[in-house]
Amino acid sequence: MPFKYRIWFKGAVYYWRILNSKKDPILKECVKELQDQGADDPWIKLILETEGEIGTPIEVLKLKELKEKVIERAVIFVLDEKMDHVSLRSQPQPSEWFRLQNHVNDSRCSMVLNMARSGNLLLGNRMQNKFGKQWKMCPGCRKIGQDVKQDEGHVILRCPLVSSTRHSTGVEEFINHHQGQSTSIILRKYLGQDRAGMVELRNRAVHIHQLVGQWLIRTRNFPE
Ligand SMILES: [Zn+2]
Repeated sequence: MPFKYRIWFKGAVYYWRILNSKKDPILKECVKELQDQGADDPWIKLILETEGEIGTPIEVLKLKELKEKVIERAVIFVLDEKMDHVSLRSQPQPSEWFRLQNHVNDSRCSMVLNMARSGNLLLGNRMQNKFGKQWKMCPGCRKIGQDVKQDEGHVILRCPLVSSTRHSTGVEEFINHHQGQSTSIILRKYLGQDRAGMVELRNRAVHIHQLVGQWLIRTRNFPE
């Protein structure tokens, strides 16, 4: 939901709850007094703005109606914005507004793939990883006397520290299939550039998750 409407939504619901609360008459009196002062008070100003937008005083509505009215205004705003952008006009509307949609948020797998695509699997090369470790060069390879830059491509496709997991998940087979290509090109293909289907991509996300998990566990006691 656009931020302005989110603020209106929260403010209106809070206001409605105060007006309809039987437990807190003092708070209700305070709100009434603020209302008498008119729109000088920023909070009351927000409520008046919201009422102006939905076209109804909040106190005459049921809570469900109030929520629906604010959401309805927000949807109209988004649709107007969408029509202003030619490239967005043919895009479908969400089946349920302002909720994460299944088709774009299907799983943890999407998250792993997107993290890998954006080059941040929280390995510890940019900031500390979940074990509080941070390295620029791979600590696993350093242990065997090799100086290798630590990044997503290295951990998923090259690091010998997790080679057994790479074999058991089939990632090694994928690498062999693309032998001779650079790590970054193979990684891009593995992350979907080879037009793999949805099921295959989900499997790959699971494999990445396993590789990264194993790598993080095995390096957790290595010196920085
Ligand atoms: Zn390594």
